[in-house]
Amino acid sequence: MFEKLLVKENVPLRNMSSFRIGGMGRFFLPASSVDELRQALEFARDWGIRLIPIGRGTNILFGEGVLNYFFVKLSGELGVIEEEDGLLKVGAGADVSRLVSMLRDRLSVFRGLPGTVGGAVKGNAGVRIGDVYVNFMDVVERLAVMDEAGRIEVLYSKDIDKGYRFADVDGIVLFAWIRPDLISDFWGIVPQRVVVEPYPNAGSIFKNPSMDVSAGYLIDLCGFKGRRLGGAMVSRVHANFILNVDDAGFDDVYSLIEEIEGVVFERTGYRLEREIRIIPNYAIGN
Ligand SMILES: Cc1cc2nc3c(=O)[nH]c(=O)nc-3n(C[C@H](O)[C@H](O)[C@H](O)COP(=O)(O)OP(=O)(O)OC[C@H]3O[C@@H](n4cnc5c(N)ncnc54)[C@H](O)[C@@H]3O)c2cc1C
Repeated sequence: MFEKLLVKENVPLRNMSSFRIGGMGRFFLPASSVDELRQALEFARDWGIRLIPIGRGTNILFGEGVLNYFFVKLSGELGVIEEEDGLLKVGAGADVSRLVSMLRDRLSVFRGLPGTVGGAVKGNAGVRIGDVYVNFMDVVERLAVMDEAGRIEVLYSKDIDKGYRFADVDGIVLFAWIRPDLISDFWGIVPQRVVVEPYPNAGSIFKNPSMDVSAGYLIDLCGFKGRRLGGAMVSRVHANFILNVDDAGFDDVYSLIEEIEGVVFERTGYRLEREIRIIPNYAIGN
């Protein structure tokens, strides 16, 4: 039944993560169509394992060893950008940068945002411009999403609970229909980005507790800039970034994350919430 599905076994995840950390994915498939994705879900069900969609891996920390999941990257028809009914229909596997370069001034506010449309929807990625967050879901009119049973549902953005780095979207995002006019106040604006780090990283580790208090400020306040654990180090520029400076392993980064959480809470009373997705080598519900 699955003979046409080119499922690979024990695939290295390290190069699928901007952190350059990670062991092997038990199963992996670049799914190039809705039909292939449906078959992949069936395959995962048969094996009793979870299917995890991944984009560019710019917001993920993978564990080491063999991760007992079925990792799927969307490609082919699931990465296409085309016009449909006056809107842009974008496959979740498409890079945000491709979309931005097509729409230029109208999406310039997302210039420099790494990752795919699927990842941007799931984490409601975005930027802060003055006193407002401009988030990816702000330009999404509707989504097509596949559930675990392979059923496709269309969700309208106005009906989705969402906010800063959060969108209540279950299942696998297949397509997003984009309306740049929804952020016309920000056309032509190019955000100033933090200095590009020379070492592999996954962007901000924690969400900002509020508009007035950033996670980076709290981490810096607790003296973490430059703190090193094994091959991992808290950036000296942006304290909310952890860098893989010397072949860091999962434990180096994870221990640093836990240490920061503990100390920041103890000294400031703030409980930092993680922004990155952590996929360790054991099944936990995150
Ligand atoms: C240098 C750097 C700078 C960054 N700057 C910013 C920034 O300014 N603003 C910001 O918000 N983020 C930023 N990030 C974080 C990251 O780029 C974003 O969160 C991005 O949207 C993640 O996209 P991705 O394709 O890499 O997702 P991945 O990291 O591959 O996945 C992230 C999560 O999304 C899920 N996912 C991926 N695709 C799908 C899909 N099709 N359906 C359902 N779930 C899916 C994955 O399972 C995972 O849980 C930065 C990261 C780096 C490395």
